Amino acid sequence: MDRRPRFGPAGIPPVFKFMKATLSDIPRLLREEGLDAFEYEAVQWGKKPQMRKEEAQKLEVEAKRNDVWLSLHGSYFINFCGEKAIVEASKQRLIACATAAEWMSAHVVVFHPGFYGKKSPMEALKTCTEALEDVVENMVSLGIRNVRIGPETMGRTYQLGSLDEALNLCETVERTQLVVDWSHLHARDRGCFRTVEDFRKVAGRIENRLGTDSLKTLHCHFTKIEFTDKGERRHHALQEARYGPDFRLLARVIVEFDLKPVIISESPILDLDAIKMRDILQEELDKS
Ligand SMILES: [Zn+2]
Repeated sequence: MDRRPRFGPAGIPPVFKFMKATLSDIPRLLREEGLDAFEYEAVQWGKKPQMRKEEAQKLEVEAKRNDVWLSLHGSYFINFCGEKAIVEASKQRLIACATAAEWMSAHVVVFHPGFYGKKSPMEALKTCTEALEDVVENMVSLGIRNVRIGPETMGRTYQLGSLDEALNLCETVERTQLVVDWSHLHARDRGCFRTVEDFRKVAGRIENRLGTDSLKTLHCHFTKIEFTDKGERRHHALQEARYGPDFRLLARVIVEFDLKPVIISESPILDLDAIKMRDILQEELDKS
């Protein structure tokens, strides 16, 4: 699939639901809005895929036909840092998500790595790394060939998923794809993205650790975010001026580094903010 900056919603936009659209209608409807990515939300899933294979394959066909890049957001009920039984159950949940992602030819399964709990960050990272290596081994033996697993940068200080930790997982574990949730980083570091330079520095760190290709093909989440001293509180729409970060600053870095990211809007108004971000990037491309 053509590599260029792509934009789309996390989950089915409210207006599509109102129209009673089926899952396989979504790619066409997104294309009609000028969007070209879709993150399927498997966030409530347990140990088995909660969709039929035929349904996933129909989505694949329509996504290809309409040039829509697919990803899948994995179960929220995952903690790769916890007690053994929790980690084992988490492995099964991530594998169930990867199975469905393979059915629909989604490029990446995004997931939240876990919580430190009583462990030190170092211990938590070690437990998580070992669990993910096991997941990848299992995926290979199950014939899941094309999907990558995507550790996401997390917004709360008690969650594993600082930028460094996500980078570390991607350096160590095969078949990973870094997922940068810029809003989470902003919340975790209490409003760290104020200037273009703040975004540029993060892009530079990613390039140093994972290489230019990984930076160019980032999978991203972006919304405005409200935070407390523990980090993320709630996502907000782009139009809410009192929250950050400002997408235009990231758009300038995308132009400067010639990045081709997939940018998923997790805003309360999903597709409408995806369209807004697409247009902001286009304005910055036109200026350059
Ligand atoms: Zn997420």
